[in-house]
Amino acid sequence: MEAWQKALLAWYREQARTLPWRGEKDPYRVLVAEVLLQQTRVEQAMPYYRRFLERFPTLAALRAASLEEVLKVWQGAGYYRRAVNLHRLAQGVEALPRSYAELLKLPGLGPYTAAAVASMAFGERVAAVDGNIRRVLSRLFALEDPAPKALQDLAQRLLPQGEDPGVWNQALMDLGAMVCLPKAPRCAACPLRAFCQGQEEPERYPKPRRRAVREEALAALVLLGRKGVHLERLSGRFQGLYGVPLFPLEELPERAQAFGVAPRPAGKVRHALTHRRLEVQVYLAPWDGEGEDPWGKPLPKLMEKVLRQAQALLAHEGVVPFPHAKP
Ligand code: SF4
Repeated sequence: MEAWQKALLAWYREQARTLPWRGEKDPYRVLVAEVLLQQTRVEQAMPYYRRFLERFPTLAALRAASLEEVLKVWQGAGYYRRAVNLHRLAQGVEALPRSYAELLKLPGLGPYTAAAVASMAFGERVAAVDGNIRRVLSRLFALEDPAPKALQDLAQRLLPQGEDPGVWNQALMDLGAMVCLPKAPRCAACPLRAFCQGQEEPERYPKPRRRAVREEALAALVLLGRKGVHLERLSGRFQGLYGVPLFPLEELPERAQAFGVAPRPAGKVRHALTHRRLEVQVYLAPWDGEGEDPWGKPLPKLMEKVLRQAQALLAHEGVVPFPHAKP
């Protein structure tokens, strides 16, 4: 093992973050943690991790649950496609496969998650390269724009012999999360400063990967029926969740006509998705249907905002539109 590898592991033994999934060898639990962490910061993910495993402690428990139940427990964690994929995965396998190659075939598992589960739960010698590790390795070897495949190969070559690969992957991750920060890395406190080729100008490495953010103008139509709001099952990224009709703003006249309503504006909400910034104009209309209490359904964050906006306006006018309004 090289000196820098020893230095990193010694640092990790002393400084590793205390996380509920640390040292976990149950592949299902590792998987849940890694899936949650794909789009969520560690501090935010922890309560969801506990809540999810309390309700679905095993793959079999997840398999037996309905998608709606799973989404309800996931509610608030966002990026619901992850929960849909976890549920789908549980339907398809009796137990999680024990190798990286087999894990990679499961729905929703990319190279990083498959490598994290294989290395941490099964001790397979496979490097897991997430954003933190990409940053640390790019700086350590002064790589401005490493191609994903080249970086994966490099990380694989760097796995030290005779060391638990799960521990090694987590040591690099922790260094990226605690010391080699994206902005203002703490080089003075870094165990790798004597070996790092990028520390003169660390923020030069790696070049940020920018993707254009699209602005979209949408309308949300809140139809007030006799018992509550008209809800639809959503598709696409919100598959399995519920919400009011949501469509491009310019389609409002035809949508209103289809429902036979004359909507009035009820304010705007803004919502940011990974590569889209949404500006949603909320419209309200009395509607000749039943409707239902929306707060009993799994709703994406965007729909919570829309319904709160509608509720705020109606409350101001002295109307209580939905029977059990969520605080
Ligand atoms: S010395 Fe600085 S740039 Fe290099 S790995 Fe450590 S924190 Fe990152």
